[in-house]
Amino acid sequence: MAMTSDSGVAPDRSSSDEQNGVGLMRIVVADKSGIDRLNELGVDLAEYVKPVDNGIEVHAILSPGESQALRDMGFDVQDAISDQGDYAANVAERAATMRAVQALAASTDTLNVLRAEWFTSLDNQLFLNIEVKSSAGTDSTTALTASWDSGAGTEIGSGGTAAMSRFTDAGQYMYHRFSNPVAINAAPTKATITSNKGGSVTVDVSKWLGSPRKVTGDHPYVSDFVDHYMDPTEVTARFTSLAAEFPKLTQLIDLPYKTNGYRRQAQAQFGTATGSIVYVTSKAYGSEGGNDLSMSLVNPGAANAPLTVGVSGNSVTVRLATNGSGTITSTAAQVVASVNGNADAAKLLTASTYRGNAGAGVVAAAAATKLTDNLKAPASVSRDPFQMKVLRIGKHRDGSKVGVFLYCQEHAREWVTPLVCVESAERLLRNYAQDPNTRKIVDDLDIFILPVTNPDGAHYSMYDYNMQRRNMTNYCPASSADPANRNAWGVDINRNFSVGSVYDGYNGGSTSCTSDTYAGPSKLSEPEARNEVWLVDNFPNIKLSMNTHSYGGYFMWPPGAYKTAGREVLPRVDQGTEAFFWTSSDYILSRVQEYRGTAIWPGRTGPVTDVLYSAAGNSADEHWYNRGIIGWDFEVGADVYDPKTKRFTAVGFQPPFAEGHEEAMEFANGNIGILEVARAYATDKIQPKTAVKIVKQEPGATTFTFTTSEPANVYYTLDGSRPTFNSPKLALAGMREGVQNLTVNSNTTVNWFSVDIAGNVESNYKPDGNGKNYNKQTVSVQ
Ligand SMILES: [Zn+2]
Repeated sequence: MAMTSDSGVAPDRSSSDEQNGVGLMRIVVADKSGIDRLNELGVDLAEYVKPVDNGIEVHAILSPGESQALRDMGFDVQDAISDQGDYAANVAERAATMRAVQALAASTDTLNVLRAEWFTSLDNQLFLNIEVKSSAGTDSTTALTASWDSGAGTEIGSGGTAAMSRFTDAGQYMYHRFSNPVAINAAPTKATITSNKGGSVTVDVSKWLGSPRKVTGDHPYVSDFVDHYMDPTEVTARFTSLAAEFPKLTQLIDLPYKTNGYRRQAQAQFGTATGSIVYVTSKAYGSEGGNDLSMSLVNPGAANAPLTVGVSGNSVTVRLATNGSGTITSTAAQVVASVNGNADAAKLLTASTYRGNAGAGVVAAAAATKLTDNLKAPASVSRDPFQMKVLRIGKHRDGSKVGVFLYCQEHAREWVTPLVCVESAERLLRNYAQDPNTRKIVDDLDIFILPVTNPDGAHYSMYDYNMQRRNMTNYCPASSADPANRNAWGVDINRNFSVGSVYDGYNGGSTSCTSDTYAGPSKLSEPEARNEVWLVDNFPNIKLSMNTHSYGGYFMWPPGAYKTAGREVLPRVDQGTEAFFWTSSDYILSRVQEYRGTAIWPGRTGPVTDVLYSAAGNSADEHWYNRGIIGWDFEVGADVYDPKTKRFTAVGFQPPFAEGHEEAMEFANGNIGILEVARAYATDKIQPKTAVKIVKQEPGATTFTFTTSEPANVYYTLDGSRPTFNSPKLALAGMREGVQNLTVNSNTTVNWFSVDIAGNVESNYKPDGNGKNYNKQTVSVQ
């Protein structure tokens, strides 16, 4: 992590047994600026944030030394992931406090309910989610309390009462919400939210996520094709054999940029005291001769001996200098200079002092020590650059069908994610012959599946260091390239893209080569990232994409990054697209839910910047902002709820396979749901229908908006002119709010048309033509 250089605290991840002591730790920060600060320090955060009563809980991969360093900086580093505080007791205590505060409230605020939904999750436990924006929310003392009924006709409060927490991001008030969805006993129909500033509002509570889809037909649908965590070599072999088995439905595409490979230079380190350490790094990769080298530091056993370096075959011998009494006098710096100054030795290896130290300490003699790349994967894992392969699935693979790009495992340690891609591919191919729904998808779409986007890192995660997130390419200078740092190298593929990058000033990526969010030396420096870009550039029919990560149970879309100063977010998607995302969420997440009942929470559904954190230079933003490709993200692995203890538990990156398998199955369902949404988009010929809706009429002012029959953008004029694509477009009122309201102060002719996400224009109107078949209505003012 970047703390190495920023604070002088050396990470201790990699003593003899590097995995010992590195844990998934809970950190509680006051608000999202605390997350931004952790990101800036390069702390290795899980893709998981959770509001807690006194701030936000995040999970970080930390060694004991790193934990201590963060505590020294004032961070509240807590225990390893296990359980969470007693939510019900905390909520009750907060509610009591807030009721007392409410009694003191003076001015009245207005409350805008963003979401009020109930849903079921595992074991049919019911939950309630409410999000409310107070007009007094910028005041940190504003406290909201929600009460709800226990079914139609019952009293408000009969279902329960809970305090809401104030959600801020980059110092700005967002809205109030529950820390977790609240477990309830009966489906509510209405909820009342009251504020200690006097505001009160009662709203209908709707159901989040639909009922399980009815499976029709008498053909069995086959699924469940993964029975163990798979490494990239196995996954790629599986895809290769699928392509061979289904030649009429598939094409195997070799991506043009090979990775650097599961390989690195061999190293050895001499000495333990910082000033007298010398370490050497082979010129050749370990697998290409580096592992055959050895070096010794020899005590000449004579007085007044000079410092000399000799090379014999693969052995480098350093004879150390002595003084008049035969004591060794060579310093680390002198040994480094002699080795690097010897032409034969310098062909084989490079010597360095430790972490930029001047190296004034005298070195100790050492027997011949073999250099090693320290890689432990079996020989079945090639040490050569890796050929990434995409399996293209579709009846018509000629570019005429809408393309969907499903890709997994950008982050190496997220072991469930490649299984989601494997399972998705198997289901499409093995159900094609007998399942009409599968046949529609494969006949009408052009599907590209990349199961492992970071193969070198994934091999490393499986065989060497399980918390590896990045690829294996080491860009560190000698001052941080010593063997003890070998788990801290590599580029975060999902920070290496060109939109909203740390190199453009966005938050959530690092320029430190040892940070777990290292964005690389430049945008798109990595072959893994360039391969993704190559695919979407070469197949412009690709219109939708899904980037599958773990964990936490999220469904997200752009924007995914902001600049910290002023929380300057990448441009939000327009109203029609946002509405399409929410409608799609309902469908896709219902498909996830139908496998074992897991509900992805409303609070974990939305733009990345709204529900997770800023992730500078991520691939979904690359696809959306540069090419208009819908860029979705899954985080598989929703928190598991225990109805006995009434607690949610985070599942982590590598749960026992029994749980990993369930996650793979339910999110493969989600991928099929995405393909069904994509097919509906691809075959949509239905034009949207819209109407003016009067919201409020007061003397001298009428407020109105538009309703639409499906997600669609509305272009309107208020000056009597013909509406075109250059006319004002109905906007969103704000983050997670509904559509904008418009207010006029005199009788006004409204002219408008709408266009859906597939491009169908209402009434077949031609905005760039001369026709008058747009909608017209006069909005009158009293
Ligand atoms: Zn990830």
